[in-house]
Amino acid sequence: MPNPKRQHSRQRQRKRRTHYKATMPKLGPCPQCRKPIISHRVCPFCGHYKGRPVVEIKIKEEKEKS
Ligand SMILES: [Zn+2]
Repeated sequence: MPNPKRQHSRQRQRKRRTHYKATMPKLGPCPQCRKPIISHRVCPFCGHYKGRPVVEIKIKEEKEKS
């Protein structure tokens, strides 16, 4: 198998990687509470996944009271 003759310079490596961009996660409406959520994740607002409760959501009111 042919191998690269020498290591690419950092400049060349970085120039290539300028095309790698971070993309926004796909958002869709939660079927339970209709808020926009990341697809294929448990809803952070109501804790539902595929129409049934999976996680209990802790409310941040305790910190606000004290
Ligand atoms: Zn939800």
